[in-house]
Amino acid sequence: MKKALVTGGAGFLGSHLSARLLADGYEVTAVDNLFTGTKENIYPLLGNPRFSFVLHDVTQPFWGQFDEIYNLACPASPVHYQHNPVETLKSSVLGMMNMLDLALKTKAKVLHTSTSEVYGDPLVHPQVESYWGNVNTIGVRSCYDEGKRCAETLAADYRRAHGVDVRLVRIFNTYGPNMHPEDGRVISNFILQALRNEDITIYGDGSQTRSFQYCDDLVEAMRRYMELPRGKVDAFFAAKNLGAPVINTGNPGEYTVRQLAEETLKLIPESKSKLVSRPLPADDPRRRRPDISLAKELLGWEPKVPLAEGLAKTIDYFRAREKSAAGR
Ligand code: NAD
Ligand code: UDP
Repeated sequence: MKKALVTGGAGFLGSHLSARLLADGYEVTAVDNLFTGTKENIYPLLGNPRFSFVLHDVTQPFWGQFDEIYNLACPASPVHYQHNPVETLKSSVLGMMNMLDLALKTKAKVLHTSTSEVYGDPLVHPQVESYWGNVNTIGVRSCYDEGKRCAETLAADYRRAHGVDVRLVRIFNTYGPNMHPEDGRVISNFILQALRNEDITIYGDGSQTRSFQYCDDLVEAMRRYMELPRGKVDAFFAAKNLGAPVINTGNPGEYTVRQLAEETLKLIPESKSKLVSRPLPADDPRRRRPDISLAKELLGWEPKVPLAEGLAKTIDYFRAREKSAAGR
């Protein structure tokens, strides 16, 4: 039986990935310091004898024999990662180094979750993997963006210098059930505001764009990527002349933030919420849309879940949470 380590396993994406790995027959160890993740996300998995949870901070070394390491540990929402920027940077950089050292010693494969934030406020649109980005090194988002960029560098260098088998996914805004209700990300904010009949907070004029990927589509891409034989991965990226195996994963549908608010309200027609303007946070990227040609070619993958369908599933999740909180 294959063994997988999932760092950040009690988070939004880590919990979905862990569930999928269990369904695929793996023995799964989830490690998490529960900074932004919750035990609630993994309650359904705890009864499975092939699942174990370890309370651990990835800035410290972690040892064990695994076939595959999925490195997700790092706060991901601007509100959370700016709450303790130094810890965010350490989680990305030291966490990556510790996982690469583990992989080096044990010959495990590593799939690391990077981000569209490595492109910063992009000057190339849509974003392709060969684009180097436009990132502020000293702004409020830099702890996350630069931490993730450094983690990519570490992965590329452990691969070049020590032969570690690493695969990088640059994830564009991804959403779904198990998102933290207080993490301030746009989809969870808008849904909860609409369900609670509160004002829907549009930052700036709402003309900035994002592309929204449903969590199941991302997990499918990650699993396909990890399953590929190393020779195929190496040959593919050598031909593309990229310094490391890196692919974008996201849904190329591009929406303004205002359109997203309108789509959300359409799916919660009973809501009495109104759209209101709030100041635009510093360094908020203007546009974001993935070019997913590489993922399509390498994995035969493309996202399947349209925004309205994914939003409806996410609304069901938050509605059920709100009901159970009201019943307590
Ligand atoms: P999340 O905050 O729900 O999950 C992150 C998990 O990592 C949490 O459970 C948190 O407690 C844990 N964690 C944080 N620091 C840790 C540390 N030092 N040691 C151990 N555990 C730690 O966020 P998510 O959306 O599930 O993101 C998962 C990964 O995917 C992150 O690395 C994030 O940067 C990346 N990503 C996510 C998105 C997205 O839109 N969701 C986009 C790009 C990249
Ligand atoms: N946003 C917004 N209202 C909110 C939360 C976010 O208008 O209540 C905007 C935010 O300014 C950004 C976009 O939505 O332009 C996506 O924000 P999120 O925090 O979800 O992700 P990121 O900025 O990291 O892409």
